[in-house]
Amino acid sequence: MLPTKINDTMNSPWQLYTLQHIDLELQRNRQELDEIEIQLTNDEPLAKVKSNIASKKAELGDTGKRQKEAEWVLEDLQQKVKQINDKLYGGKVKNPKELVNLDHESKELSKNVRKKEDELLELMSEVEDIQANIRNISQELKGLTKEWQHRQQTLIQRKSDVEAKLASLHQDREELAKQINPEALSLYEQIRTTKEQAVAKVERGRCQGCHITLPTTQWQKAKAGNLVQCDSCNRVLYVE
Ligand SMILES: [Zn+2]
Repeated sequence: MLPTKINDTMNSPWQLYTLQHIDLELQRNRQELDEIEIQLTNDEPLAKVKSNIASKKAELGDTGKRQKEAEWVLEDLQQKVKQINDKLYGGKVKNPKELVNLDHESKELSKNVRKKEDELLELMSEVEDIQANIRNISQELKGLTKEWQHRQQTLIQRKSDVEAKLASLHQDREELAKQINPEALSLYEQIRTTKEQAVAKVERGRCQGCHITLPTTQWQKAKAGNLVQCDSCNRVLYVE
């Protein structure tokens, strides 16, 4: 961590290196803020489950309708069977051929009744399955919503922390920039238009921006507090 206290003995490379540290921090925090904003508006997992429930409800409506229709058809068939059986066993019809026909018709219709009954049972069980499914997904949605709300709260808190950090970094930058020689500052800004980092540390005689070995006189000048640029990458050299 770099000291934030600025004093008169500070040289230009040191100041620019400190400025760069602040700028990198600003950039990192801005990126984090962007990511938080994206996450705050992302309710995709909830929307997915909600749409799943909606489609299950539509399916329930369709199957329920088919169940009702099957009930009507069954009722109709049962009514018909009753009418034929009344005729068949009522004693009014005496003609044997007619009785045989009625018996045949009654048996055929009864077959249809059993078929419809099976169909209806199938549909009722289908409706129950869908209802159970909807209950399960609704329960899942409840849990997800709770998690999501908790996450939103965490994100909102994090957002406010990052915003406070950014405000403080902006202030640090402004104060430091005021104390830097305008020429040095403008050189820094100019290099920064093409490079993410305008200042390179020198370690064991090498520029850490491009890793070239520097002439001793060059980095010694930088160490003395002079504004020296790397011949190879153009960055301002800073020696600790
Ligand atoms: Zn270099």
